[in-house]
Amino acid sequence: MPHASQQSKPSANPAPDPWQRPGRLGRSLLRLAIATTLGVAVLACMEPRILPALALVPLLPLLGLIATGIIWAQSGVFARPILGFATVNAHLALTFDDGPHPIETPAILQLLAAGGHRATFFVIGDRAAAHPELIDLLVANGHTVANHSLHHAPWTPVLPARRLLAELLAANSVLAQCSGRTPRWLRAPVGLISPPVAWAARRANLQLVHWTATARDGVPGADPRRCLARLLPYVHSGAILVLHDGVVGRNESVARQVLPTLLAEMAKRGLTSIGLDSVARQ
Ligand SMILES: [Zn+2]
Repeated sequence: MPHASQQSKPSANPAPDPWQRPGRLGRSLLRLAIATTLGVAVLACMEPRILPALALVPLLPLLGLIATGIIWAQSGVFARPILGFATVNAHLALTFDDGPHPIETPAILQLLAAGGHRATFFVIGDRAAAHPELIDLLVANGHTVANHSLHHAPWTPVLPARRLLAELLAANSVLAQCSGRTPRWLRAPVGLISPPVAWAARRANLQLVHWTATARDGVPGADPRRCLARLLPYVHSGAILVLHDGVVGRNESVARQVLPTLLAEMAKRGLTSIGLDSVARQ
């Protein structure tokens, strides 16, 4: 006879998940490659003479898969980051990385406000701590503030997992102090999702967000026309687009140059940008 608590459990209707994520193929391939490697290792223990002949058979695809998983987050090898969202409304999500910046961020907010757009700002903890007033400004204008690591160090993907977790929690703490809310979204620096990044994000209760398209405007010498051209094919409902408000050593960000045309194109297609917190509430 079933236990009373098992018997009377109501069958709740789970809320539909609006998020678009990679499939599970990448993770299945990784498991297969690891299993094959372990199989060869066991065989080699039983018969060491066969090791040289078989060692590279699983190892090369395994290394290839690991590199693919880190560089190409859409593969879903180590995590299933959000790539877009399902919506019946004419909404997309503009996102801005690497800020806040004392000149660029307010300028971008002005451009967004003119069209009634809300966006998500993946801010760097250090920069937020240096400019808490800008985080206030983002929150006051209804934008979503999200985690983009504490330092944005280039070696973030290879940091030990526990150190990375400590940095993500420290960035969360800075942002919670500035905004009054603990962030729920994380974009990995440069979008590289290594096993430590995936593990630390999970432990910090942060959902990894990747993108539908990126302008690649955060690199030195980025050409605004080419950046815009990378985004235009993806100006549609449910897309998550990436630009950068955090720049160092330039007079005006590429994002600020790209945004007027991008927003005009969105208006032509009847699209409004909303913050990821609003998507979650839809
Ligand atoms: Zn970044």
